[in-house]
Amino acid sequence: MDIHEYQAKDILSKFGVDIAPGALAYSPEQAAYRARELGGEKWVVKAQVHAGGRGKAGGVKVCSNDREIQEACENMFGRNLVTHQTSPQGKGIYRVYVESAMSISREIYLGFVLDRSTQRVMIVASGEGGMEIEDISLQKPDSIVRSTVEPAVGLQDFQARELAFALGIEDGMVPQMVRTLKGCYRAFRDLDATMVEVNPLVITVDNRIIALDAKMTFDDNALFRHPQISELRDKSQEDPRESRAADRGLSYVGLEGNIGCIVNGAGLAMATMDTIKLAGGEPANFLDIGGGATPERVAKAFRLVLSDENVQAILVNIFAGINRCDWVAEGVVSALKEVQVDVPVIVRLAGTNVEEGQRILAQSGLPIIRASTLMEAAERAVGAWSNDLKLGVNVRAV
Ligand code: GDP
Ligand code: MN
Repeated sequence: MDIHEYQAKDILSKFGVDIAPGALAYSPEQAAYRARELGGEKWVVKAQVHAGGRGKAGGVKVCSNDREIQEACENMFGRNLVTHQTSPQGKGIYRVYVESAMSISREIYLGFVLDRSTQRVMIVASGEGGMEIEDISLQKPDSIVRSTVEPAVGLQDFQARELAFALGIEDGMVPQMVRTLKGCYRAFRDLDATMVEVNPLVITVDNRIIALDAKMTFDDNALFRHPQISELRDKSQEDPRESRAADRGLSYVGLEGNIGCIVNGAGLAMATMDTIKLAGGEPANFLDIGGGATPERVAKAFRLVLSDENVQAILVNIFAGINRCDWVAEGVVSALKEVQVDVPVIVRLAGTNVEEGQRILAQSGLPIIRASTLMEAAERAVGAWSNDLKLGVNVRAV
């Protein structure tokens, strides 16, 4: 789960990382009012969206008076911000963060990630801040320093000092840098984050080290341990298909194609997507309905897949091990009776009680297209959407 910049900054500041004074606003008027409250002469208005690259896309504006703040806000609120990290639709701007502008003398990149090869938290830093890490690694790979944290002891002072020296931090500011690094690490570890990125971490002209931008991502599977983090979820920033699925306890990832997939098991769901591609089609989604595919779950899955208007055929692929094909078939039949499905439905069943499952599908009277292998199912799904009307396989359940 991602959170907003202002939320990440609030968290990091509680772990000892310095941030600029700032306040959140939900309207242009409120933003101007917030700026007056903050005082000073220069502010930065920052669109709060779950994506980086806002600066280049017009989502970060330095302002020096009321009028400029309102103007900047009017160009943000209600619009979608499209950055190189968003889809072409972009992400809606419903909140802006108003911050006192800093006078920057240096920008540093700082990232904390899980490194799968060492199975450790890895700190990645570069003196070339302000650029995306992908660009730094292409243009200035030698500027990148890395350090791996031993989980049993956590980030050690000497390690943090080594990083500070490698980044060329002046001696007098090293303790402040150590505090910043350790604060980010502790926030990462204590809150089960999978990523903490501060880009840029700046050194101001008056020698303060400040997190000017902050991004945090959390491990969804650990959110139950952190209700205060779960509360920060902002559905306006998520793919609506995916948030609907999460609300229903289904594992769903929306894709660009037009063949909806309903599958039990993540591995089988991946294999199904691959096979659809092999057959010349494009999957509309990844969907794992889990092991116990009860009729209710199957019906939920149909509703979810059909809520994507690009879907022109649905492929149900079930392998019953602990589950039973007859139960799944009953689930499909009752789902099709309950949910209005007006695209072809292709079902491939395998495993326990497959004959009984096939019988239930055949006797249901519903125009379900049955397939005996995954390849056949995929080919029929691909054929179904391109020849849909020609073949007259338009399915409409009562
Ligand atoms: P991003 O583009 O989404 O990563 O948004 P950032 O928060 O990183 O802002 C983009 C850029 O705006 C930063 O790299 C800075 O150069 C600039 N910026 C942001 N806040 C300030 C500020 O307070 N003072 C100045 N001078 N520049 C700022
Ligand atoms: Mn940034």
